[in-house]
This record gives sequence, C-alpha cells and structure tokens, in this order.
Amino acid sequence: MKSAKGGLKQKVIEFQKFSMEKNQSHKELFSHLMTHLTRIMSDVNKAKKSVKLSEKMDVSDRSQATEYFWNALKTHAKSLGIDLVGFTEVDEHFIFTEEMIGYRVKDKVLDNAIVLGMEMKKEAINQAPELPAGNEAMRVYAELGAATVKLAEYIREQGFRAQAFHPFGGPVLYPPMAEKAGLGEIGVNGILITREFGPSLRLSMVTTDASPLPDSKPAGMGVKDYCKTCGVCVKKCPGKAIYFIDQKPISLEGKYLTSIDSEKCFPHFFETYGCSICIKVCPFFKLGYEKIMAKAAIKVKEA
Ligand code: SF4
Ligand code: SF4
Repeated sequence: MKSAKGGLKQKVIEFQKFSMEKNQSHKELFSHLMTHLTRIMSDVNKAKKSVKLSEKMDVSDRSQATEYFWNALKTHAKSLGIDLVGFTEVDEHFIFTEEMIGYRVKDKVLDNAIVLGMEMKKEAINQAPELPAGNEAMRVYAELGAATVKLAEYIREQGFRAQAFHPFGGPVLYPPMAEKAGLGEIGVNGILITREFGPSLRLSMVTTDASPLPDSKPAGMGVKDYCKTCGVCVKKCPGKAIYFIDQKPISLEGKYLTSIDSEKCFPHFFETYGCSICIKVCPFFKLGYEKIMAKAAIKVKEA
C-alpha cells in the first residue's frame, strides 16, 4: 500500500516555521508543543533502530510465548501509560510499499502485531482547531511514541524480536490493524472509534515474532451503521477531505479502501497544529459510545 505521508523532517520544518509565525500569543503552549516535536523526532529514530536491533537477535533456542508472558506484557504496557492493547496477525494489505518516514522494512515486518492506543484528553481536543488541541495531539504522539519504544525493548529483553512503530508514522496503517485487533471500529472519519475514548486517541504498534498470540475478536460495535445516519464529519471537515465511503472510496493500490483524502487533509492538519475537527464534531467524542448507542436503539424501537 502506498504511503500517504511524505518526509517527516520536511513536514516538521514546515510545521515549525508556520507555528513560529502564528503563535506569538501562545508562547508557553507553543514551547510545550516544540518540546513534544523534538521528543517525537528522537523517538522515531529510536523506533527505527529497534528494527535493526530485532534483526540482530539470536532466537535459535527461543520458546513459545505463554499466557503469563502476554499478561505481564499488558501490565507493563499499562505501567508505561498505554491505555489500550490489542493483538492480531499483521495483514500485508496494510503494509506500505513506499518508505514511511525513513522505515525501510516493507518486507521485514514481523508477523504478529501488538496494537497500542493512548487517550487524547477531551478538554484539549474540544478546543480544536486551536493550539491546545494540536498540543494535546503532539503530547500523545510523544508519550505514546516513547512508550512504544520501551515496550519493544521490554519484549526483546524477554527473548523475542520486537519492532517499534511510532504513532507519528510507521510502515503499517494502524486503524485497520487496530480494528482487526478488536480495539474498536473505524468511522467515516477514518479514525478508530473505541468504547473507551470514542475517536479521541492515537495509535501505534509493536510487531513481534512472539507467538502464539492471545485470542482477539472484532469489537462488533455498530459504528459503521451509525456513521451512515450521521455524516457530521463529512460536512464539517474544513478541507472537504472526508467522503462517505460508498460515495467516493479511495483505493490505495486496490488493496484498501479509505474515505479520507490525505492530500486534502494535510494542509489543514499542519496549518492548524493537528486540526482534529473530525474528532471534536463526532458524536462518539461528544457523548461517548454507550450514550450514542442507547439513543440509536431507542430510535430504532420507535421507528
Ligand atoms: S483532520 Fe481536519 S482536515 Fe483532516 S480530515 Fe479531519 S477535519 Fe478534515
Ligand atoms: S462524525 Fe458521524 S459519520 Fe463521522 S465518524 Fe463520527 S459518527 Fe461517523
């Protein structure tokens, strides 16, 4: 699958230049945001190194991963601040065929995936597309990126290979992998919608040769059906970058259909420090999953 994103360094330079001009009135917040960006760049490099470290490991006498190992891993992930952990095999349809922010692992992605999610705080995202929302997005990219690198280290210490893929970008598309791992369902806005945080989270991944994986199953949340009756994000997107999937599906090399036109999204994403309007306007963000589904059930009963 072709990557929709270009070089990380160029994007960050453009972002910093624009931000410096625009944020004279939010100096403190802007300074936090720049700290997050510096941390992101550093951890993206650590994550890329994890691929090489993993390749160098001698795994000739390695045993199978036990239930105890997976439970300990989940506990460790939580201790690193990771909110959601799911397991699934890597689907090659979701691997990018182009270089992705410097990862060159298209044929070497390990078979099993641990998909990770971290919440973006509601108070901040509610201010999208203003700076506090962008700062929160960058904070979570930075926090989750650091935690992802550490989790991969932890797995390697247990004797298994582990590649860290940073939330800012990696060689695999995260939302469909997270859906496959049962963490939630993808909405029309292309974002994973979860029971716990609605769409207000960021995703990353660790791939490993540890096996067998714990069982996982689809979340079965009914998000896609609800989206058909909603469409708020389609209307409110400032870049007109979101389509109803049956109206204009965008095929990535014929392998995966998406409803987001990244070329239209990115200018707004960078101009507004992370945009996030499609998260803020989503009913699953505003009211939460349980309330939305309870309301939808009442409507169906009344019809
Ligand atoms: S981040 Fe903004 S521009 Fe991009 S899809 Fe969402 S609402 Fe549209
Ligand atoms: S705003 Fe509406 S259509 Fe868009 S993802 Fe959320 S529920 Fe689906």
